[in-house]
Amino acid sequence: MKEDVKNYTLEELKNYFKSNEVAAYTALQIFNWIYSKRVESFDLMTNVSKKIRNLLLENFYFSKLKTAKRETSFDKTEKFLFELPDGAAIESVFIPETSRLTLCLSSQVGCKYSCKFCTSGTRGLKRNLTAGEIVNQYLAISDLTRGKITNIVFMGIGEPLDNFINVVKAIKIFSEHKGLDFSRRRISVSTCGIIPQIEELLRLKLGVKLSVSLHSADNAIRSKIMPVNQKYPLNELMKTLRSFSKAEKYPVTFEYALFGSLNTSRLDAQKLIQLLKGMDCKINLIPYNTAQGIFKEPSSSEIEGFCSELKRAGLFYTLRKSRGQDIKAACGQLYALWG
Ligand code: SAH
Repeated sequence: MKEDVKNYTLEELKNYFKSNEVAAYTALQIFNWIYSKRVESFDLMTNVSKKIRNLLLENFYFSKLKTAKRETSFDKTEKFLFELPDGAAIESVFIPETSRLTLCLSSQVGCKYSCKFCTSGTRGLKRNLTAGEIVNQYLAISDLTRGKITNIVFMGIGEPLDNFINVVKAIKIFSEHKGLDFSRRRISVSTCGIIPQIEELLRLKLGVKLSVSLHSADNAIRSKIMPVNQKYPLNELMKTLRSFSKAEKYPVTFEYALFGSLNTSRLDAQKLIQLLKGMDCKINLIPYNTAQGIFKEPSSSEIEGFCSELKRAGLFYTLRKSRGQDIKAACGQLYALWG
């Protein structure tokens, strides 16, 4: 069976060539053709010998995503619906800002963690994406928008740390010098808090940014709205994250959705301040986007009260403006119905 050449990291391709008695540097040439020159045919790789091209033709193919839909928000955010070869579907979001172009990638078809406020998990998990399918979202969108993407965030559909191997492969492919040469500090992996994989990420020393979907500093409330907290409770998660930011010498980012009358009072802010005391971190506040469940948008006085507590405590936070709500491209709104 032929394999998708975009599932291979440079290291893996080198090993493949070595085991076929081909010089390992051929892998660099192939990476350069695919990711720098964006060539999708072995026949066009003219500095590679005919013999090697035949070997590649016999054993590999180029996967491609089918763009099923492209929608543009009034704020210029774009949402792409991609159809996969097995009929499954995913969505990716392109977010242009003044000084950066962010690409929000999906890592799975569906999601098994069923956070109560998020639409992406309402039909459970269908399957993991391959590394090639993750990388293809980038290639397709950079071709279609002709934008120079500056930031990649794994904040689309799925839990990236639940598809650990393929997400790590995709990160290695994105950051390969001979290819897309993307800086790892411009890649964010967002997780609902899966402790063993956070530890594994640290062990690999990948150097990517880590975001954690926190949403409450109260263990009981977090367990209610994010069932994953029952398995990996807040105190253990925080221990892991403190060692992560210390070892990486880089702040962890906390995503905190503001839900009206649930986690947005001054007392909730004080609990958050207590939880993060002395830790090198950033906080992204995201007013709830209408999506799943019985949640309410926060009132402006709730938002102001919450922010003023954080400010008083000297915590670094940003209040995120929601992007692409009118095309259901904002956090928690991605769904991508699959067949
Ligand atoms: N599974 C990963 C990646 C998803 S990122 C994770 O949980 O981090 C999507 C982000 O949007 C997460 O921070 C998620 O908690 C947040 N989110 C989900 N639904 C939301 C909603 N309705 N309003 C605001 N943020 C939401």
